[in-house]
Amino acid sequence: MGRLDGRTAIITGAARGIGAAMARLFTAEGASVVLGDVLREEGEALAAELGPAARFHPLDVTVADDWSAAVAVAEEAYGPVSVLVNNAGIVDFGTVGEQSPEAFRRVLDVNLYGAWLGLHTAVPSLRRAGGGVVVNVSSTAGLMGYANLGAYTASKWGLRGLTKSAALELAPDEVRVCSVHPGPIATPMTAGLDPSLVATQPLPRFGRPEEVAQMALFVVADATYSTGCEFVVDGGATTGSPLPVEAP
Ligand code: NAD
Repeated sequence: MGRLDGRTAIITGAARGIGAAMARLFTAEGASVVLGDVLREEGEALAAELGPAARFHPLDVTVADDWSAAVAVAEEAYGPVSVLVNNAGIVDFGTVGEQSPEAFRRVLDVNLYGAWLGLHTAVPSLRRAGGGVVVNVSSTAGLMGYANLGAYTASKWGLRGLTKSAALELAPDEVRVCSVHPGPIATPMTAGLDPSLVATQPLPRFGRPEEVAQMALFVVADATYSTGCEFVVDGGATTGSPLPVEAP
């Protein structure tokens, strides 16, 4: 018996990286999953590999009609949505003085507005399911600041804030809303980043997408008394300064 038997899930950004690891784990645990992504070829290949409990649906999270169709497809194929994972995200590097306004807006659009639109569209289905769980994939950039990542950091703090408001609003419907905050994870998003990025954190390595997927599974299946709160999976990156405080 799986821990997600009978659950219908939508996972965004599921064609690769963290979202793909979640799709694999959630279907292995018995959920039926709609994989939403703009990467059609990769998404369809993964859905085919996962079998009848998975199907790909082309979804740009910033497009309202795409969301309506994804929720309708999920309901029709598997029943009302009781798990929504807002995982799709993009990154753009640039200082506040140098990043273009278009790039800033695009990052906010995908990472924050896209998740809001997903919640907004899925709420009736979550209610029809009799309750459920929304997992918003934020970041350690939703817990602290990073230089050269202002747009990304703003989007991930915004997603953490949205999580709290939605948790308050949806608790009467038995819908929990939580944020997951990964540190540096080895995915296409971080490919090519300087490995020294992780050298000073307590666990000095990149995390694996599967380790974030396990956290999301815990939030959905086990954390039944948790809502509106943060689940951190970061190798200790936000724990504090690695420099010992020397006696004066
Ligand atoms: P990734 O780039 O490997 O995967 C992101 C997926 O989102 C891709 O499949 C991409 O096609 C999809 N996507 C992008 N724009 C989209 C849109 N408009 N509509 C639908 N899908 C879209 O990245 P990842 O590392 O797997 O990241 C997944 C999530 O985890 C993101 O929200 C990211 O910000 C967050 N995160 C990643 C890390 C990390 O170190 N990798 C750390 C913290 C948080």
